[in-house]
Amino acid sequence: MTESGKSHTYSKDRVRKVLSEILPKECLLEMEPLKKHTTFRIGGPADFFVRPNQMQQLAKIVAFCREHSVPYFLLGNGSNLCVSDEGYRGVMIQIFQNMSKLTIQGNRLIADAGVLLSKAANQAAEEGLTGMEFASGIPGTLGGAIVMNAGAYGGEMKDIVENVTVLTPEGELRRLSLQELGFSYRTSCIEKEGMIVLSVELLLSQGEKEEIHKTMEELRRRRIEKQPLEYPSAGSTFKRPEGYFAGKLIMDSGLRGYRCGDAMVSEKHCGFIVNAKDATAAEVRQLIEEVQEKVFESFGVHLETEIKML
Ligand SMILES: Cc1cc2nc3c(=O)[nH]c(=O)nc-3n(C[C@H](O)[C@H](O)[C@H](O)COP(=O)(O)OP(=O)(O)OC[C@H]3O[C@@H](n4cnc5c(N)ncnc54)[C@H](O)[C@@H]3O)c2cc1C
Repeated sequence: MTESGKSHTYSKDRVRKVLSEILPKECLLEMEPLKKHTTFRIGGPADFFVRPNQMQQLAKIVAFCREHSVPYFLLGNGSNLCVSDEGYRGVMIQIFQNMSKLTIQGNRLIADAGVLLSKAANQAAEEGLTGMEFASGIPGTLGGAIVMNAGAYGGEMKDIVENVTVLTPEGELRRLSLQELGFSYRTSCIEKEGMIVLSVELLLSQGEKEEIHKTMEELRRRRIEKQPLEYPSAGSTFKRPEGYFAGKLIMDSGLRGYRCGDAMVSEKHCGFIVNAKDATAAEVRQLIEEVQEKVFESFGVHLETEIKML
């Protein structure tokens, strides 16, 4: 979590004044329900919800928050998050459509952190560039995908990233090479070091446009067939434990369709907890704990969450 300080008491008037000096009016919202910005459709209001459209604005907001111990959190497309019902007491900074430039130069795709993976994959395909097909159906931004080292169908971000430009907690711009990004299964060094992804350079290869589109279509079909896309969720709830599949362990523990209120273990794919109607974060949390306990009792395997609880 990119959070600047422990204190959750701060002067809202002061924060409002400073943010409104930094940002245009339309980029600053107050008490914005976070359920509108997460794919789980769960989450109470954020005190402040900001969408900077320039790096300088972002840097000023972060510097102010850090200096005055105002908590802040970085949000992409909210597709890997379960946000608390109480919401967020601080400044939620969304890096999404307002920071989403993309260019292609030869085999390189260079894009802002707010670009959606689907958009980047489609642009690459249009240019006959292969390597990103695996990511075309992951509903996150490039920023979120770098933080999570997002992956699917045998590919991961670490396979295509050349470098990433970040804003450090000290307010410096740094370009990190693949080695410096510390990628491993569903993680990177970004979060641990409190950095913010600003832009990403991917190295792809020349391919056949038609083949690339065909592969993407095949992967899309597989997702629709296997994943409960008809319900809001945050994707796979748990990381894959070594030597097992989380979904199978959960199913074999007799938990298919098991519910805590409206939070439900998907009947289609037990590795997903879905929001069956009006689930709360408290229900999701309780269901996660019950699933972890039951799977541990049955198989002695601890399931670690992949989704982030805020
Ligand atoms: C239906 C569905 C299917 C999914 N399938 C897959 C899959 O196949 N593979 C997979 O890996 N994931 C999958 N996911 C999970 C999710 O889409 C990925 O983890 C994605 O990379 C998250 O991106 P995001 O922009 O939504 O990040 P968010 O959920 O908004 O944030 C995730 C984390 O990244 C941080 N963050 C976001 N942007 C930045 C930034 N610019 N700088 C610093 N920190 C940032 C946040 O603070 C948070 O800690 C799926 C989710 C859903 C709902």
